[in-house]
Amino acid sequence: MSILIKNGTLVTMNPQRDILQADLLIEGNRIQKIGKNIMSESATVIDASGKLVIPGLIQSHIHLCQVLFRGLADDLELLDWLRLRIWPLEGAHDEESLFYSSLLGCAELLRGGTTSIIDMGTVHHTESIFEAVKRAGIRYLGGKCMMDYGAEVPASLMDNTDNALSESLDLLSRWDGKEDNRIHYAFCPRFAVSCSEELLQEIQRLSCEYHIPVHTHASENLGEVALIEKERGMRNVLYLNELGLCNENLILAHCIHIDDEEKKVLAESRTNIVHCPSANLKLASGIAPIPQLLEQGARVSLGADGAPCNNNLNIFMEMRLAALIHKPFNGPLSMPAEQVFELATLGGARAIGLENDIGSLETGKKADVVIVDIKNWHSQPSSAANAYSHLVYQSQASDVDAAIVDGKILMMNRKISSINEAELKSQAEKSLKRVLSRIAF
Ligand SMILES: [Zn+2]
Repeated sequence: MSILIKNGTLVTMNPQRDILQADLLIEGNRIQKIGKNIMSESATVIDASGKLVIPGLIQSHIHLCQVLFRGLADDLELLDWLRLRIWPLEGAHDEESLFYSSLLGCAELLRGGTTSIIDMGTVHHTESIFEAVKRAGIRYLGGKCMMDYGAEVPASLMDNTDNALSESLDLLSRWDGKEDNRIHYAFCPRFAVSCSEELLQEIQRLSCEYHIPVHTHASENLGEVALIEKERGMRNVLYLNELGLCNENLILAHCIHIDDEEKKVLAESRTNIVHCPSANLKLASGIAPIPQLLEQGARVSLGADGAPCNNNLNIFMEMRLAALIHKPFNGPLSMPAEQVFELATLGGARAIGLENDIGSLETGKKADVVIVDIKNWHSQPSSAANAYSHLVYQSQASDVDAAIVDGKILMMNRKISSINEAELKSQAEKSLKRVLSRIAF
């Protein structure tokens, strides 16, 4: 199948950072050609006049399993948020509720221009998440959440070490590389607080053996950092580094409460840090030292985290906040729009391990492409001359007109082709009722 996007303003994110008035031709799942006046007899033509054509946006820290719980865990700090609300809710999922939670998340993400995610599953029924991302068509890296330690972990989520590992390996063998390499597997220990040292050591060994990424959280909350220091005898990031986990295959969400030595370790080990500004503010966790990390050459990308700690999965909101919240402490020149847009494109591509395939509009790369309308009132005057400013400071998720993933049009004129939206909303409501009937808050 061929798709020809005509007359758009292409924000390429290529090495020259070209912004071009040009056409873009997709053949199969790759970008075939970028240039003026491209003609094709057989292609589906999309007119992008007055619109920005951008690389599909990438969120490198998401919890699809929590989408159903949006609005059910407001105004709590992390450890209470987990213990009182999120863990009991996750533990009450059934296969179907997890499927619809994940599909609901995919619909929101695609409608907001996010075409790739790095996700953390929950402990049980992880298969349902893979089924949902297969149906939705989004590009995915994620896996079963592993938890085998900690007095506060509810019985419904407490796994044993052997089962956490064997189930993960089983899912890895069945899903990694599926859907023409659109779906990949990551080991997902939740965070050091809920993982035994034995489990983390084994994950490190398996990650090296299979070349599989590890996706986890670290140093989000002061209580979490204190707990690790007390139980494992060192600061959180240094502990992960001691286990051999800090490298370019590690995706580490948050990294807020880190000292200078930890910053150095993260930058030098090329660990992928995920900045989640909305979630960090809402859980009163703090503000990650992102400008300092970037200055030291660290790899940084963006994520909305979970729906109950945000409460949106909107990359435009994360870009805007990432650009704004550091300025009072670091000056108006910190986190400029172009740099923030890079975190949501090339930064995410690096984190997901696909920098040669996605993150920019270049001939030969995979066709993950998003079209953003800049004719709305909040975008006026709508000159595309300052495209990064439009995208980071003004654009909203609802400005996304079309989303193409792996050469397939998943959303056009704001309608998703892979999902029956009305049925999804009704199934999600029924699923939530079922989950809530299993627990008492
Ligand atoms: Zn998270």
